[in-house]
Amino acid sequence: MEIDYVKIGLKVGLEIHQQLNTQTKLFCSCPPALFKEEPEITFLRRLRPTQSELGQVDPAAFFEFQKGVKVLYEANRATSCLVEMDEEPPHPLNMEAVEVVLTAALMMNMQPIDEVHVMRKTVIDGSNTTGFQRTCIIASDGWIKVGEKTIPMQAASLEEDAARKTGKEDAGKIIRYRIDRLGIPLIEVATAPVIYSPMEAQEVALAIGRILRDTGKVMRGLGTIRQDLNVSLPNGALIEIKGVQELELISKVVEYEVQRQLALIQVKEELRNRGVKADELKEEFIDVSEVFRQTKCKVIRKALDKKQKTMAVKLAGFAGLLKRELMPDFRVGTELSDRAKFWSRVGGIFHTDEMPAYGVTAEEVEALRKAAGASEEDTVVFVADTAENVQDALKAVVERAQEALAGVPAETRTAKEDGTTRYMRPRPGAARMYPETDIPPSTITSALVEKIRLNLPEPAEKKLERLMKEYRLNEKLAKQIIDSEYGVLFESIVKESGVAATTVAVFLTETLKALKRDGVQVEKVTENQVMEIFRSVGSGEITKEAVADVFVWLSKNEAKNLQDAIGALGLKMFSKAELETLVDQVISAKRQSVDQLGKNAFGMLMGIVMKEVRGKADPELVGKLLRERLK
Ligand SMILES: [Zn+2]
Repeated sequence: MEIDYVKIGLKVGLEIHQQLNTQTKLFCSCPPALFKEEPEITFLRRLRPTQSELGQVDPAAFFEFQKGVKVLYEANRATSCLVEMDEEPPHPLNMEAVEVVLTAALMMNMQPIDEVHVMRKTVIDGSNTTGFQRTCIIASDGWIKVGEKTIPMQAASLEEDAARKTGKEDAGKIIRYRIDRLGIPLIEVATAPVIYSPMEAQEVALAIGRILRDTGKVMRGLGTIRQDLNVSLPNGALIEIKGVQELELISKVVEYEVQRQLALIQVKEELRNRGVKADELKEEFIDVSEVFRQTKCKVIRKALDKKQKTMAVKLAGFAGLLKRELMPDFRVGTELSDRAKFWSRVGGIFHTDEMPAYGVTAEEVEALRKAAGASEEDTVVFVADTAENVQDALKAVVERAQEALAGVPAETRTAKEDGTTRYMRPRPGAARMYPETDIPPSTITSALVEKIRLNLPEPAEKKLERLMKEYRLNEKLAKQIIDSEYGVLFESIVKESGVAATTVAVFLTETLKALKRDGVQVEKVTENQVMEIFRSVGSGEITKEAVADVFVWLSKNEAKNLQDAIGALGLKMFSKAELETLVDQVISAKRQSVDQLGKNAFGMLMGIVMKEVRGKADPELVGKLLRERLK
């Protein structure tokens, strides 16, 4: 069914974060780069809640602390120093990064602020060694045009990126983080919540992405851009969705979130019609281990063998609702299970709406219902684990079930690759920001703003016109180039290599898109390498047909160079002398046929020679040599 998003009152706001490709990180002189090797340094820290100066503790942060998690940080000397390790105060703010944000901000018609004050934002999941993230507003109150509509832009900020999670150990009690990413400058751009449809959200994000790329100073590739979406419906809730990595996924994420909220509103109405009351959803947990004494269910069997418990809770009036689908492959039961997993250490929950299944028999379900005092109208949720974990899990289940009576709980969710979202944590409370006292404020002078204003990159519409005129690209291809990450690279390649503009444009757009779809990690090939590949096409060293093969080879052999690729792929071109010898050989081998066919032998001979040299010789040159020899 087609949803009228305006009618249902959908509102979306975007927050786009993109890594900047500056010389150094934001608060030290390390390069903004990641490492793949084994770490040279590791150190263990315990998570602790940071008191803000107002003496308040962020509830989300405090909860993460309560889990008693330790963090193992990994580092190497080339990508981090004592600043990332929180052993040395931060250095002054990287002004190159400030200039990039100013550039983007001016392109979005924002007003730069006079003085940059770095603030601390509480983050205690371990992704920052300090327990906070540093952030500062650079400009505010602007707008961009997307199609006919004016989208107000709230602010452009500069932030330090966080450490990246590389794994877990000791049943989740130790989280591993790599601090190479910590401190890489990020621009954060936020729109007002004035976007009214999933497609519009995507178009706005694309437009912002284009402006950021036009600065020529952003990183490219997966993981360098992250979108957060604030999605709200009047009868639903404001949901913050974090970490959408692909711009092309945004419309789907919004669509699914709307579906989820609408379905939860329906569930609320149904519960009301059934007369279910919050006080009927009690934290009464019943030990049902006895019911499963002989069970064939592997999960429960394993728990009972370890002398753990199976406990159940009755959700009065919930029968059938837990299997209600909210998003593809995601049900009300999944909501409950996500909550349980978050607030305890259990792997998941069982409920009678999906029974009998997983080795649980109909007889066991019957006995379970009886033990829990459940009727046909009720659902029973049960969990097998340690007594403590089971209690925590079932408490979370009851809490989430109570929230279902009110509709959609406001929360922070995280986006998955298929566009669905999962519970991440409760919405963080206010008072998360407080001043960073280690860094003095920096002034943005009007002279600096003017210098940047005079050197702003060409806006997208102007560039489109120019690409079509200057490079004779058709409109579709020119648009694709502008939308791609290679707008700047395209022009340099054409100018330096002399290869036809259309050939370069098709490769940078359609071919790369197809390669990406086939699983090629296109971001592994640097812009310099792409440039080199085309230079060698221009100089006749390889043919344009070989470009994709060379590119794919380089993506899989990161430490190697173009000459290695040419060698490994056997792409070395035939020299003219080699071709002449080959042509002579083929003619003498086919002497008889040549005599019989006369002039008509050309096609046959051409076929034989080209089979030998395809991709390694220019067909025109082969034809010419062949014609000469046949004479
Ligand atoms: Zn450093």
